[in-house]
Amino acid sequence: MQPVIDIHIHIQPLHMFRPQALAMIKRGRKDYADVERYSADPQLFLKFLDGLGIERAGLINYVSPEIMGFTPEVNDWIVNYCAAAPDRLLAFGSVHPRTVADAGAEVDRLVKLGIRALKLHPSHQEITPNSYRDGCPALAGVYERAQAHGLPLMIHTGTSIFPGARNVHAQPILCDDVCIDFPNLTVILAHAGRPLWMEEAFFLVRRHKNMHMDISGIPPQKLLEYFPRIAEIADKVLWGTDWPGPGVPEIRGNMEKFHALPFREDAKRKILYDNAARMFPR
Ligand SMILES: [Zn+2]
Repeated sequence: MQPVIDIHIHIQPLHMFRPQALAMIKRGRKDYADVERYSADPQLFLKFLDGLGIERAGLINYVSPEIMGFTPEVNDWIVNYCAAAPDRLLAFGSVHPRTVADAGAEVDRLVKLGIRALKLHPSHQEITPNSYRDGCPALAGVYERAQAHGLPLMIHTGTSIFPGARNVHAQPILCDDVCIDFPNLTVILAHAGRPLWMEEAFFLVRRHKNMHMDISGIPPQKLLEYFPRIAEIADKVLWGTDWPGPGVPEIRGNMEKFHALPFREDAKRKILYDNAARMFPR
């Protein structure tokens, strides 16, 4: 069977959510009780992954005190959760330069803690990805230390409908500077700019050797409409679902629809597994 890595799943400390943000997760979800059970018990979540044939999962967390309710403790929470199976659960954490005294030192701390990658969520953290050039010099410390540690950086791109999200920060083109100034930093554009800025994402992935993208949050039936030349960049695309985010009903249906798409099987295999396996060696 084709092994799969879902690089973008939200297992989060539900108790930290602001009420309006949690309401967005619950809205229309028939399986919210499962989300609660999996968030409380990594062994149950691993069984869920087994049932889907998913070998490994990136569990995305980030610091966003005002909009989502997540404080820097979110990092400790997800490392503790992933300790149940560090070979299968990849802890994604974050450093918000406005919540710590020394952003670069916080990256060093997270690496020691067991964080495997960083997430920047510009629209939920109110940070422009290239603002280290203008207004937020501490962000350069985050990128510089991540680059030094070989820690991949995932940057959310594309719209968000969470209350208070500031989408002006979410355009992929704002990440062009990051790849220029930190040429050895592995960057992943989460959601590949969907649904407004796919051409920018495609351009950047082709332009920069260190730029990648995940296709989470994109309905698979839309993928070839959004990225008709996806096979050309198949070495730099990662599979992900963004489950249980708004508009992502379930994981199994997404995988089946992806498998049914009319493009090369070797490219699908790279996207579903090989690229993420290379980026996160065991
Ligand atoms: Zn997400």
